[in-house]
Amino acid sequence: MKSNKRITHAYCIEAEEVLPITGAMLFYFARPERGALSFLCSTDTCRKRGVKVTGVNYHVPPQEQTKHQTAHYRANPVDDHDASCEWVGIEGDVGQRLPGETDRQLEERKAKLKLNDFIDVFDPTEAGPEQGNEPPDEQLDAGEGGGVRRNSRSGRPSPMRHSTNSLERLVQCYREAKDELSKEEFEALTIQVKGLGEVSLQSYFRPIEWARLGVSDRVLFGGARYKKYGAGFSFTFFDKHQGKPISLYVKSATINAYRYRRYWFELFEQAENVAYFRVYALGTLKEREDGKGYDLSVDDLRHLAIVLGPQKAAEPPRE
Ligand SMILES: [Zn+2]
Repeated sequence: MKSNKRITHAYCIEAEEVLPITGAMLFYFARPERGALSFLCSTDTCRKRGVKVTGVNYHVPPQEQTKHQTAHYRANPVDDHDASCEWVGIEGDVGQRLPGETDRQLEERKAKLKLNDFIDVFDPTEAGPEQGNEPPDEQLDAGEGGGVRRNSRSGRPSPMRHSTNSLERLVQCYREAKDELSKEEFEALTIQVKGLGEVSLQSYFRPIEWARLGVSDRVLFGGARYKKYGAGFSFTFFDKHQGKPISLYVKSATINAYRYRRYWFELFEQAENVAYFRVYALGTLKEREDGKGYDLSVDDLRHLAIVLGPQKAAEPPRE
């Protein structure tokens, strides 16, 4: 049978696990060797029959540009999926109101169905302090959240496709929603955040200039300049807090323990070519001891996501 639902997860042969597309992207860049990844359908019966799925744009780091090149999966036109496949069937009839569904909920459901990947539940607390660092054993959650996560405590797979603990995945969902949906559709989107409850997706993201001191209940974002800082790095935001500069500094030891550091190194290599980096962080803003500025600190690098700004304009030809 043909798959006619949006495929949000696929089995990556090289990673040996089911991943959302952002997970495939992090895995692609984090490998010491580069090479195309191969994907099979996430449903066991399809996978055993070798049903292939195509990964699109997972090898392109996210970048702000006129056309958003969203990474996604799509069905292979040749391969037939099993009748039991989770991607076969009709994706909830968008024209039809579900029992008890309000106008707002219907609008939201319609909007979400336009996205390649969307998140209903975000759990920033799920990862322990060691999560996202080098895995102590092969059973560690890949860090992408969603999908068939091997829960390191229970060992049971989680069926939650639209739940994640990955800020990277949430940020890509937010960016796609902002670029692809109308203003009304975008504003209709909500998200359940563990520890916070239901909030609009839009309000969960806050420009850094409006950050509140000492509180880390929103994803702060802003354009920033990258600087190599010893073996670590720093970002200085263009926007200021009460007229003073805001910086984010990551030590070399922290970055060296981070599983997906090679992905970031890849982005940093573009520092000369892009106008800026867009930094998204679940962190805490504090005034520096010298009173000359503010530091944004993140307790876990999984709470930091970085997107390339647009390419710098080409230099005008010299006379
Ligand atoms: Zn399938």
